[in-house]
Parts: sequence; C-alpha cells; structure tokens
Amino acid sequence: MRYDPENIFAKILRGEVPAIRVYEDDAVLAFMDIMPRGRGHMLVIPRTPARNLLDATPEQLSACVNASQRLARAARAGLGADGITLQQFSEAAGGQEVFHLHFHVIPRYAGVALGRPGIMGDMEDIQAAAGQIRTALEAQA
Ligand code: AMP
Repeated sequence: MRYDPENIFAKILRGEVPAIRVYEDDAVLAFMDIMPRGRGHMLVIPRTPARNLLDATPEQLSACVNASQRLARAARAGLGADGITLQQFSEAAGGQEVFHLHFHVIPRYAGVALGRPGIMGDMEDIQAAAGQIRTALEAQA
C-alpha cells in the first residue's frame, strides 16, 4: 500500500486544512481530534510521510511515542486525567480511516467509558481543553 499525499492529515501538515494544534517540533505535530472519544483526545503524527505502523521508520515511531508521553503527562496535569489510552490503527482491517500514521492519545477519567467513535465534538470545549493542555506543556518545559 502506497502513501497518498492527499490524505487529510497531510493537508493539515501543509496548512491547507485547519487544526487545533497543541504541540509541534521538528519531527511531529499534535492536534485535537474533532470527534473526541474522551475530553482532550489528541492525535500525534510525524511530519514526514508514513502510512501506518507497517511502513514507519524507527525514528518516526520514537518521535511519535515520545511526544505522546509528553502529551499524556500534560493531559494528566492540565485536564486532571486519571489515565491515558494510547491507540494506533493500521490499515482498514485494523480500524484505520486516515492513512497517515497517527497515535491517539485519549485522556481517561475514572468511571467514564471510552466515547463512541464518529461523533463530532463541541468545538468550544475542544478549544478549551487544548488551551489547558498547552498551558500544562509550557509548565513542563
Ligand atoms: P483512525 O484512522 O481510525 O485512527 O481515525 C482517524 C481519526 O482522525 C478519527 O478519530 C477522526 O475523528 C480524526 N479526524 C478525522 N479528520 C480530522 C480532522 N480534520 N481534524 C482532527 N481529527 C480528525
């Protein structure tokens, strides 16, 4: 399977589609999932092309996982998350819908089940959660 540069996350990386960005460095970009399965649900992607776990390089994987840990800690500090669910889906049979490698960092709260997929979130609350995460990231640095 080949990488398609017209996928929506490639467009976000190129600035052609808007996203609520929370973290970026030379290797990765993290932004809010617009259909959050938990308050503060984020996606972490490498800046360079990779379809998923099956074609990613060790450098892309380590950059994404390191950033995921940083964001997980920021979600705990900034949102009061009690736990984190880290998900990665590869190929359609694995549940993947967007074919640019991404890790889901989903903050979890005691007693709250994982939300259903495919439901648009409240954009005001997503923006508010992003602000709380950014503030926690600044405090980490
Ligand atoms: P999957 O490929 O199954 O791992 O999931 C793709 C994820 O991307 C889903 O959780 C969607 O809610 C999310 N998503 C799709 N389009 C956008 C977008 N434009 N901005 C933010 N999140 C998105």
